[in-house]
Order: sequence, then C-alpha cells, then structure tokens
Amino acid sequence: MINRRNFITNLFALYFLNLMPKMACAFEIIAVRIWPSKEYTRLAIEHLDKNIKIKYSNEKNPDKIIVDIFHVKVNRKNLSKLIKVNLKNTPVEKISVVSSKADHSKIIFYTSPLTRARISSIPSIAHYKERLVIDFIPHTPKDRLLSFLKEYESAKKLNERKRLQKEVKKRITIAIDPGHGGEDPGAIGRRGTKEKDVVLEIAKRLKRKIEKNPRFKVYLTRNNDYFVSLRNRIKRAKRANASVFVSIHADAWVRPDARGASVYILSDKGASSEAARWLANKENLADLVGGEIVNKNSEIAKTIFNMSTSAQIKNSSFLGKEVLNELANISRLHKKTVEGAGFAVLKNPDIPSILVETAFISNPREEARLKNSFHQEKIASALNNGILTFISNSRLRL
Ligand SMILES: [Zn+2]
Repeated sequence: MINRRNFITNLFALYFLNLMPKMACAFEIIAVRIWPSKEYTRLAIEHLDKNIKIKYSNEKNPDKIIVDIFHVKVNRKNLSKLIKVNLKNTPVEKISVVSSKADHSKIIFYTSPLTRARISSIPSIAHYKERLVIDFIPHTPKDRLLSFLKEYESAKKLNERKRLQKEVKKRITIAIDPGHGGEDPGAIGRRGTKEKDVVLEIAKRLKRKIEKNPRFKVYLTRNNDYFVSLRNRIKRAKRANASVFVSIHADAWVRPDARGASVYILSDKGASSEAARWLANKENLADLVGGEIVNKNSEIAKTIFNMSTSAQIKNSSFLGKEVLNELANISRLHKKTVEGAGFAVLKNPDIPSILVETAFISNPREEARLKNSFHQEKIASALNNGILTFISNSRLRL
C-alpha cells in the first residue's frame, strides 16, 4: 500500500533522479564558427553533448530556422558564444535562444529568404568534438533567365555573346582544386599555418600564370575559405568542361623532419605503398572534418564515380610525371615516382587528375617556405610548367 509519505518520497526520488540531472545539464558549446560563401553559409556549433536530441523546423514571415534541442539548457556563458558570432555576408540576420522549459532549448535563426537549409549532427572527428552543422542556402533569383532576358533586349548583344561562347569552348579549361577549406583546415603547421590557406594562395597564383596564355582558362573549385565536398569538386570540374584536374595540398607527418613534394594519382589496384594508403585515407576524411553530410544512399552516384578508366589513370600518370619533374627543380622530392592510392577526389572517369602534396607543412622549414610568397610563386611556376608540358604532349594540343 502506498501511503502519503511514501508517495511524497517517491515523488522526490523521481524528481531528483530523472529530472534534476537533465535540468542541470548545460549545452556546453566549445566554439561557434561561420563560413560564408556565395553558394551557402555553413555554421558549426562544436559542443560536448554526445547524444544530442534535436528537432528542426522552419517558419515564414519572418523567415526562421528553429532548432529544438532536448534535455539541455543553453546557459548564459554558452549563449554569448552563439549570439556573438559574426553574421556579416551571411543569410542569417539574428540568432536568439529561448529556454522555454528547463530541459529544452530553442535556437532560432532569423534569416533572409532561403532556398533551403540543411542540418546535421556530426560525431567527434580529428581535432573536433561533436558538431551541429547548419547550412543556409540563400534564395537567389534565377540568374540565367534574368541574363537571358537582358540579352534578348538586344539581339546584337546576344550574337556577340554567342561568338564569345564559341571562343570560350575552344579554350582548354584546367580545374585547379585547392584542398580543404572552411571547417576543414587540412594539416596545421607548428606555427599555426593552415593547409587550406596556403594551398588557396598557390592555386590563385597558378591560375594567374596559366591564364597569361589566352588559350587556357582556369576553373578554381573554390576561391575562398569555405568547404566544398570531394564529390562536388569533381562535379564542378566536369561541369566546367575541364580537361585536366590538379588538386593542391600540403602534407603532414608526426616527425618534423619529413620533407619534400610528392604527386599522387588514383590507383584501381590498391595503394602503391602503405604511406600512400595512409595519406589517401587522411585526405578522404575531409568531407567529415569539413562538416559534410555523408549520404550513404546515393549508390548510383557512387558507381558513376567509381568507374575510373585505365585511360584516365594512364594520362594522370603522364601528367603526374611532368609535374613531379618540374617540382624536382625547385624542391626536394619526398617520393621520386608518382604514387597511387584510392583518393576520392581523383575518382573522375574522364579527366586526367593528380593530387600534389607541395611540401610538408609539419616541417618548420617547409612551413615557412609555404607561407612565403616568393616560394609560392616558385611552386605555382613548377605546376604551370608541368601542366603545360603535359597538354602540349597530349591530344589536347590545339
Ligand atoms: Zn590535404
């Protein structure tokens, strides 16, 4: 029989055991980072809550993305990390947090009109703890239609454009792929130099060099500090009708004396060495580190991207050799031959593709050189020469 006293004791036990721990649980935010770009803005909330339970919804007038987080409370210290984030150049206008119940928090993002938003919960990986990643994809008017209508107003303009387009088609497009970006810094040197920054610098210098020749056009898979998934890098190169794909990286190793440049291609027969396999696995983690939602259901896409042809691998190896020869003139080589492994970013059936590790950012001397504009120019020149030699020896020659 439950008497009144027992009932109250039980109630207290229930209250303390079940509710109190939840009430006391704070949503511990480590950092809030935001990566604006023209295509989308990625916001990452890095936190310590392993089993986070969230619900996400949106509302119109005003436009809002609402993230409900259950069983945690955002306290004042963590709140300030959220609301102090710099929202400049992003579709997010304001962030507010409502803790309506003691164990339930709502983060509200007031936004300008969006095409859509994506939210994902990414488990701890590399140097990151748990992350809530929210992508805001801004609504943009259909540029193509607009520009078409504008052109329609003047037939002369249209004809001119057609002529230009024909000329552009005749040009050879080279896709340059600066590795990492945004949430994914890539390797980090002892003095804090980030791979994503130096490879972007080198890529921009390389673009300027290649485009000095009007027959060539360079397509950069990213031109700023934001993340592009490995698959999207390939897709973009395809869309740009690229004839060559060069992914630029900087290596890292536990021992600071490891040094030198190396060049990699895709291998369909397993990795050429244990080190190459290790490196490919590390580079392939980029999607998760960058906060990308890994879609396991896209089997069709997977097969398409896995169909690398022997012709592509042969051409990639020719391209790799030319680039490696040129790099040998400006720096030591880490590997004297082109190595192969299962790099996801090189899985492109049609385009000769290489991945260049320009130097070891984990080596203090090479880190300093990677940051130095004079040396960046030298790397860009070597890459430029290698690519051009490959093109002049191949069927791409005009
Ligand atoms: Zn890398």
